[in-house]
Amino acid sequence: MGSQEVTTASAWQGMNITVAGLGVSGISAARALAGLGASVTVVDGGDSPAHRERAVPLEQQGIAVRLADADTLPEGTDLVVTSPGWKPGSPLFLAAAEAGVDVVGDVEIAWRLRGHDGRKAAPWLAVTGTNGKTTTTRMLASILAAAGLRTAAVGNIGTPIVDVVLGTDEEYADLDVLAVELSSYQLHWAPSLRAHSAAVLNLAPDHLDWHGSMEAYAADKGRVYEGNQVACVYNVADQATEDLVRAADVEEGCRAVGFTLGTPGPSQLGVVDGILVDRAFVEDRHKQAQELAEIADVDPPAPHNIANALAAAALARAFGVPPKAVRDGLRAFRPDAHRIEHVADVDGVAYVDDSKATNTHAAEASLAAYESIVWIAGGLAKGATFDELVVRSAKRLRGVVLFGADRALIREALTRHAPEVPVVDLDRTDTGAMPAAVQEAARLARAGDTVLLAPACASMDMFANYNQRGDMFAEAVRELGAAGA
Ligand code: ADP
Repeated sequence: MGSQEVTTASAWQGMNITVAGLGVSGISAARALAGLGASVTVVDGGDSPAHRERAVPLEQQGIAVRLADADTLPEGTDLVVTSPGWKPGSPLFLAAAEAGVDVVGDVEIAWRLRGHDGRKAAPWLAVTGTNGKTTTTRMLASILAAAGLRTAAVGNIGTPIVDVVLGTDEEYADLDVLAVELSSYQLHWAPSLRAHSAAVLNLAPDHLDWHGSMEAYAADKGRVYEGNQVACVYNVADQATEDLVRAADVEEGCRAVGFTLGTPGPSQLGVVDGILVDRAFVEDRHKQAQELAEIADVDPPAPHNIANALAAAALARAFGVPPKAVRDGLRAFRPDAHRIEHVADVDGVAYVDDSKATNTHAAEASLAAYESIVWIAGGLAKGATFDELVVRSAKRLRGVVLFGADRALIREALTRHAPEVPVVDLDRTDTGAMPAAVQEAARLARAGDTVLLAPACASMDMFANYNQRGDMFAEAVRELGAAGA
């Protein structure tokens, strides 16, 4: 392959790279770097049959794999490439710091590799925030595609970003632009990333156990704006996102562009009489407003999702996409599973799966989308508190069904702020609790209500992941429907 001739002379040739984590992103980074002539060792604390199975093809490619030891830095390491989930305080990174060795993530590697070997270096439009990242990034990709651009939604989504940037798969060769979803972890480990434009959708406490504090979490999110060229997109309703724009060091001429569910001011996108309008990317933003789409073009048209659509539209417009493509792209977009997904109506009650609401901020957004709700919640709280969520949502609650390891935190908040709301505490943390939860919810609900699975917690205490949690909910709802039929 031609690329190997070029990599012989590349900066990676002969470098000793330690990859932390034998997961999807670690494997992809290891293979890519080995392909470029680096000498790669993958380390992982696990040593299960699955780990060993994953190691085999890597070893065949000349990559060393060290299992059951994630803490010591291999001799002679020049650079550590980490998987996003590893905590900054991990012993391996402390050892790297002591040895004066940099630690970066796969996103940083992808950024450094773009344009490698004379390939076209597609600009990045980046999306981060506590909630709505995947949805917004996919909406953005849909809009860019509707404008006839060759693009892909990458980052936390789908194909590992290193593979996309290297364009080894024909699908990703010669892309015009990337829609990149970035988590706070990925941003933490991507110091030299400079996006064309970026959006921080919102900022609420999450993953604080990883980052150590809200300030550290916000600072990592804010990195997405560093070096932006055209637009820093922020949420008018969330001052913290605007503060991050102000703190960022951007390219000369880069603009701050807000999105709002209200009437937009100059340099903002917003909503007027059910129409999404742009007052930022128009000739005279003091006098002009450009119609982009209707609220009905957004699926589902819940308030938080309209905000996502506006953020996606702002990034697309910053890239020069015409208004019609914004509308066509939004119309073509379909949300992923487990995100406010309507499962079925049983006896006049709607059952909605928002299993992806794994924190209080997300759950609050989905609770705000319905009038009268039986709420199914609980799981792993990840250090969150529930008082605010309960105070803001109490008037919508017909009843609550709780399960999961940290359910007492939610129950106590309900006792404090909404003592009149009936609560069923299933007192269970087993996977099989879901049908019981759905039955209890059905008992509490009246015709016209919505039974909403929006747990406000991570799922891993009871389920493999939020997908399984949502699937089991849907299954239990179908059984309920069948039993009643
Ligand atoms: P992420 O990739 O950031 O986890 P998703 O797009 O997968 O975000 O949505 C996750 C959950 O967050 C959804 O199920 C919904 O409950 C909630 N959500 C989506 N967009 C927003 C938003 N803009 N503000 C608040 N909550 C949101």
